[in-house]
Amino acid sequence: MIGAIASGVGAAACAVAGVGTYASLAPESQLFGRTIVAGRDVAEFALTFDDGPNDPWTGRLLDVLARYQARATFFLIGKYVRQRPDLVREIREAGHLIGNHTATHPWLAVQSAARVREELAGCNAALEEVLGEKVQFFRPPHGSRRPAVLRAARELGLTAVMWNAMGFDWRANTTAARITGHLEDGIARNQRRGRGSNLLLHDGGHLAMGADRSQSVEATREILERHAPGKVRYVTVDAWA
Ligand SMILES: [Zn+2]
Repeated sequence: MIGAIASGVGAAACAVAGVGTYASLAPESQLFGRTIVAGRDVAEFALTFDDGPNDPWTGRLLDVLARYQARATFFLIGKYVRQRPDLVREIREAGHLIGNHTATHPWLAVQSAARVREELAGCNAALEEVLGEKVQFFRPPHGSRRPAVLRAARELGLTAVMWNAMGFDWRANTTAARITGHLEDGIARNQRRGRGSNLLLHDGGHLAMGADRSQSVEATREILERHAPGKVRYVTVDAWA
């Protein structure tokens, strides 16, 4: 009997902890505050790229996007922005939207409120110096967030952006075909649910500049080939704000 009560309490505690983990990491959870995921038009896609700028892959990606006349959203890391402001300007001049991906890419949910603010404000400052315009969107590294993170973002005028289709392109030794397969699974799921698709890919790596993103660039080309602009509208995430 005592054992049953104890395990019951344990199960309840796990369930509570589970809810917390789900809300802070699940990309579509709205429990910890409203975030942008996607619109309700199944023919609207947003290509989003995290962890850049990163030479030469950001540039290669810009070439692919230009070839298909598709606009995309880039969530950049502040420390890389300071290293390669020229690449940041190139992204902007090509007509893409640029967002904040923090200064150094920490897990925000486990940082102090002061550190969260510093990370967001630091990246904003780096971007605004280069672009001369206010940054309006941010994506939390690893999708990690909690109410204090979203509050700090709001105070800085930033709206958090998540995703609903993921290429898992950060996995070691993955291939363009596998990345495309994961994205297609997400797209099919979104279309069944009557949603647009917010596709998460990476043009950089948060551990160091120079990460090989050749497979992500190729997967982007394949997605653009299969879902040609015309059949699908490629929007930037501000379309869903
Ligand atoms: Zn990231």
